[in-house]
Amino acid sequence: MSLPLSPAIKQSVRDLLISASLANLLLLRRWYDIEDLQGIPLNYFRTHPPSAIPLNATLIASGILTVIVLLLARIVRGCGKQWLLTFARVGFLAALIVPLETVRQYWNYQKGHADWTTNAALLALDLLLASGIVEVLRGRLRIFIAAERVAACMAAMLPVFLIYFAGMHAEAQHEAAYHARPPLPPLPGHPAAGRNGVNRPASRVIWLLFDEFDQRLAFDNRQPGVELPELDRLRAESFVGTHAIQTAGFTNLAVPSLLSGRVYSHAEAADASTLLVQPSDSNSMLSWRDQPNVFRRAREQGVNAALVGWHHPYCRVLGDSLTRCFDEAGVTSSDALAEETYFVDRGLAGSIAAVFEWRWNSFLGLFSRSEGMNHALTRFIQSHQQQQYFRIRDRAYRDAVDPRIDFLYAHFPTPHLYAIYDAQRKDFTLSEQTTYFDNLALVDRTVGELRRKLEQDGLWDTTTLLISADHGLRYVLWHGGMNWTPQFDRLLEAGQSPIVPFILKLGGENKPAVYDASFSAIVTGDLVLAVLRGEVTTAAQAAAWIAEKTGPQRVTESPHPVGGTSP
Ligand SMILES: [Zn+2]
Repeated sequence: MSLPLSPAIKQSVRDLLISASLANLLLLRRWYDIEDLQGIPLNYFRTHPPSAIPLNATLIASGILTVIVLLLARIVRGCGKQWLLTFARVGFLAALIVPLETVRQYWNYQKGHADWTTNAALLALDLLLASGIVEVLRGRLRIFIAAERVAACMAAMLPVFLIYFAGMHAEAQHEAAYHARPPLPPLPGHPAAGRNGVNRPASRVIWLLFDEFDQRLAFDNRQPGVELPELDRLRAESFVGTHAIQTAGFTNLAVPSLLSGRVYSHAEAADASTLLVQPSDSNSMLSWRDQPNVFRRAREQGVNAALVGWHHPYCRVLGDSLTRCFDEAGVTSSDALAEETYFVDRGLAGSIAAVFEWRWNSFLGLFSRSEGMNHALTRFIQSHQQQQYFRIRDRAYRDAVDPRIDFLYAHFPTPHLYAIYDAQRKDFTLSEQTTYFDNLALVDRTVGELRRKLEQDGLWDTTTLLISADHGLRYVLWHGGMNWTPQFDRLLEAGQSPIVPFILKLGGENKPAVYDASFSAIVTGDLVLAVLRGEVTTAAQAAAWIAEKTGPQRVTESPHPVGGTSP
């Protein structure tokens, strides 16, 4: 038995379906973003289970938009003025062009792999809607009515999305998956640094890894106006490798290789605490956690190791290889995740406002070529990264002067873009005009501050400082974005450099030495262990050690060491 519906009810249902559909289509881009947030591998860069705020904010925004469209339709119909009705029909068809263009932009700029067929199909639909507008103006409604029917049918998309995303949430990982692995107990009877004792490492070691620290831009081809006095001073009393080759071009791969001392050819996040790595000489993917790492090996040498790190969720993967661990995972490392972080930061109400604000900006972007860029999000990532820097810095400074720590590894989120420092003002004012060079100045400042802390605590002479990087500045990732200038296009014209800084200031040594043979930075972890064992205490020993591991030795006493602005 079916209930007969009055024409008025039928009309209301139809209006509701069309309004909901139009609202949903206008927010189509949000669904793409939410889709990007699904998938267990993304959890690797989260600090908590996925938040429901992005989905809820989108649903509520969609509801608000539905009500607005519905009310406008009522008002137009209630007025009964023909010109207003025509205007509303034109508006409806024009509004349908927006989601089509959104899809086109998304594929062209965000995903970067739209094909001619997709573009042609979308353009054909655009033209059809445009001709519908012309028809409406001439009093013919054929295309308009067809578009209305299609829109009403597309209301079915909303429940489909909901069922799809609800299913995704069901398989999300539990909160416990985001907990750090329990640290090792500090080794007992460990004498304080500075005194001789049993099982004591020969030297304390602090390994500073500066993300995206580029040898060529910092030292070999330093540009006028770039001043790095602390680094120059340090290089003038250190063993300096001028041709250390990065282990990989990206943090995900370069850092595991460095810490395992094994070259991986591929790395892939699997879940909140698992990174799979593929050794270059193997076909199988292995869990990075089960691979050897420099901290576990240091422990076997009687060393209390601490880690302060960025991007990787180090403590969930390697926390049980260390006596102390602190990390700041890469919660802004992809656009989708940065959006989630932004939404969580703003709360539900702020996120709903952001949905409308971003859609509006994206609509305005249809008329320019900046479409893919989300300005508010970029600025948020910049400021978030700066906060991460502060926390990592403070923690690293604290552990660096703790004599109970024999080996500290600290991975800093700088000079990795965006720029989080202003070199001219010598402060942390955030700006769109600062560049990679400002972040280099922050590296310099960090090294200087750490040095003074060690000096004040009387640990400078007994501590070996090693400065390196995971990879150099990446053109593909940053060009054309915020904090990028044409100067960097020119500097990276001939390609990006695979050479990373390698500065080893051995405890108690202050004679400069330059090692200019090429070697892979993969040896860094092993060298740290050799220093901890007391096998490398002089520049000559460092050179011989690297040469033995990697090839012929070429070391020179440098008369004007380093820091110079050689061409
Ligand atoms: Zn990196």
